[in-house]
Amino acid sequence: MIDRRMMLGSGLGYAAALGGDAAMPAAAAQYPKLAVAGAFDCDARTLDAASEDFGHVVRRRPWLVVRPASAADIAAVIRWADIRRLKVAARGQGHSTYGRAMAFGGIVIDMGAMNAVHLIEPDRVVVDAGATWQEVLAATLPRGLTPPVLTNYLGLSVGGTLAVGGIGGATSRNGMQTDNVLALDVVTGDGRELACSAEHNRDLFDAVRGGLGQCGIVTRATLRLVPAPERVRRVQLFYPDLHSLTADQRLVLGEGRFDQLQGAVLPDTDGWRYQIEGAVYYDGGAAPDIEARLAGLSDLREEAATTDLAYLDDATAFAKLEALLRANGQWFTPHPWWLSFLRGSNAEHVATGIIEELSLEDIGPFGRVAWYPLATQALRAPLLRMPEEEVAFVFNLIRFPPSDDPATVEATVARNRALYERVRGEGGVLYPVSAFPMTAEDWREHFGPAWPRLREAKARYDPHNTLTPGYEVF
Ligand SMILES: Cc1cc2nc3c(=O)[nH]c(=O)nc-3n(C[C@H](O)[C@H](O)[C@H](O)COP(=O)(O)OP(=O)(O)OC[C@H]3O[C@@H](n4cnc5c(N)ncnc54)[C@H](O)[C@@H]3O)c2cc1C
Repeated sequence: MIDRRMMLGSGLGYAAALGGDAAMPAAAAQYPKLAVAGAFDCDARTLDAASEDFGHVVRRRPWLVVRPASAADIAAVIRWADIRRLKVAARGQGHSTYGRAMAFGGIVIDMGAMNAVHLIEPDRVVVDAGATWQEVLAATLPRGLTPPVLTNYLGLSVGGTLAVGGIGGATSRNGMQTDNVLALDVVTGDGRELACSAEHNRDLFDAVRGGLGQCGIVTRATLRLVPAPERVRRVQLFYPDLHSLTADQRLVLGEGRFDQLQGAVLPDTDGWRYQIEGAVYYDGGAAPDIEARLAGLSDLREEAATTDLAYLDDATAFAKLEALLRANGQWFTPHPWWLSFLRGSNAEHVATGIIEELSLEDIGPFGRVAWYPLATQALRAPLLRMPEEEVAFVFNLIRFPPSDDPATVEATVARNRALYERVRGEGGVLYPVSAFPMTAEDWREHFGPAWPRLREAKARYDPHNTLTPGYEVF
């Protein structure tokens, strides 16, 4: 690590020290030195780490990694990079699957140290965007409060999920995480520090939520809070096929029987298992009448499983799978995930065809095909794309393939691309954490009617296209 004094004192020396493919472009050295209060990491290990993400599919080495201490640091870095025409990408927790937080030959801003929780009020919390949802929840829960929507895995950063949407079991009730933001502090692609909300700089607010980091780096977020339930009773129901699973999912969604609703097609020893996962919140001793919530459902009732956990234990349950995958090494192998939303009207037909062609190895014993309906009216962030129907289905190939053979990974990425084209042709929409290449033309089509909004905001806030090259939107 190079500290501030070194950097301030020897901009050129630093560039030379990097050497090799990471050397500073010669012309850049004539510009003023960069001064920030945070740290610069340029050792091979740090650059290697910023060249990778959870996907382990693509690798793009930056020239420099900065660990900012403040929004002012980020603004200084962006302005410094802008005049050198260096690309800049924020990195939250690096759980992208296709290099979206990388900046080849540019600067990665590691948000990890900007993780403070500043203020908690009964209806809101103010956090730095590098905080993980786990850190946010740990701060709010002692006050009996929670964000209304948590992702299944809490090790993601606030800035990272707000860039894509942030979906969880409570999304049908409460929207995406992007729908539960009250205000944002942003450093734009031209280095301005701006505050935005529904009332103030609305265009920026709308361009940043679900905007793939194209217009600004979120430095601080004011997030909505609601009273947290004390306990969660969660039930898993199993079905013999996708059709009966889907019919019951539609029923329980329509009747709002669960506070959280998800589901999956799970790999089994000799085929697939079809599962609904519904959760009911409750307080004190008054346990909910689960039987009433299950009335009339056609699941294989003898296989049903129930858990009853404190809210925090339920919210962090994914950590057990994470620990297992870290222990067996599969957390660190390639994850060519593919995530989408299907139109409610043809979802079952489209998914059936795709699942028929999947092998268990495509998903891996610890993977799953996430499959559940959403009420789209709860989703309001303009850049968060959804099929234009009242119900959409989450359809995600969460792959933990047993093989990390590069040829197999490459073939999977190619199949992901083909799947994308197939689903797009059926009116489906990408959830932009998927692992396959997208062209600028693909993104134009993806954003559809929202594209002019993003294009205009880009021209206004990141005119030199400095930010977030990993998505290849512009
Ligand atoms: C195990 C696992 C579980 C997951 N579960 C869910 C889930 O339940 N629900 C869900 O919606 N998604 C889920 N995801 C996907 C996840 O939300 C996205 O990959 C998310 O972008 C990752 O967040 P991150 O902090 O790791 O971001 P990174 O990978 O670090 O960054 C993602 C993108 O956001 C940009 N970015 C990061 N910080 C900022 C910022 N402060 N301002 C602007 N742009 C920024 C980056 O430049 C990059 O383009 C999961 C991923 C994994 C690996």
